[in-house]
Amino acid sequence: MKVQFQIAHQCCKIHTRKVLGLYNREMANKKQLFKYLLVLDFEATCDNKHQPVPQEIIEFPVIKINTTTLESEAIFHTYVEPDVNPKLSPFCTELTGIRQSQIDGQPHLTEVLDKMFPAWMEQHGLLDPENSSLFVTCGDWDLKTMLPSQCSYLKKQPADYFHKWCNIKKAFCDVTSKYPRGMMEMLTVLGIPHTGRHHSGIDDCTNIGNIAKELIRRGHVFKQTYYRHP
Ligand code: AMP
Ligand code: MG
Ligand code: MG
Repeated sequence: MKVQFQIAHQCCKIHTRKVLGLYNREMANKKQLFKYLLVLDFEATCDNKHQPVPQEIIEFPVIKINTTTLESEAIFHTYVEPDVNPKLSPFCTELTGIRQSQIDGQPHLTEVLDKMFPAWMEQHGLLDPENSSLFVTCGDWDLKTMLPSQCSYLKKQPADYFHKWCNIKKAFCDVTSKYPRGMMEMLTVLGIPHTGRHHSGIDDCTNIGNIAKELIRRGHVFKQTYYRHP
């Protein structure tokens, strides 16, 4: 009898929290499938009428978020000097805030992919199978289109860890039942202030990370939404 009452009482508490969207951290995080989310948002060369060919990554930021504590534990961030069209269009600088001087002399994508990023992954224990992680992007463009197309141009294969990710727009839709147009709409709906500059890669990562944290607080369990066959 006492046990029954306790179960009923517990269910009622859970139900109340669900209705109020007030899943506490402990409850929300018990179910997470990945220990870490790796929020990634590339910026790339661009122009106002036609995109440059090939389009090339100029900013490569990733934020590591612990899904239990919701802390941002580490940041990988580098600007990248393009191989083919190293001169930024005025449109690109206007859109992203990235100036020519910020990419001149920076590492090329090959060095970032072959050395710098794997070293960071290793340093933060992310190559250890015990420390499961999932990339999170806003849309599928970064890992479905941009990275594979530049890798194909460079005659490289993206590393295995780039083959699966979560499109946060789908996670947002699971929570709110509305598929958003973009990051700004998600921030507005969730009542999260925008920080920094829109289309700065590192600031976009911070904002996407804040959305991810809020979705976890609301009980969302992050899962991969896309697998790109090698
Ligand atoms: P985002 O992550 O939304 O800042 O965009 C990633 C990249 O997509 C940018 O660095 C540009 O290369 C491209 N892009 C985004 N918005 C536009 C736009 N309005 N016109 C041209 N290219 C864009
Ligand atoms: Mg983006
Ligand atoms: Mg961006």
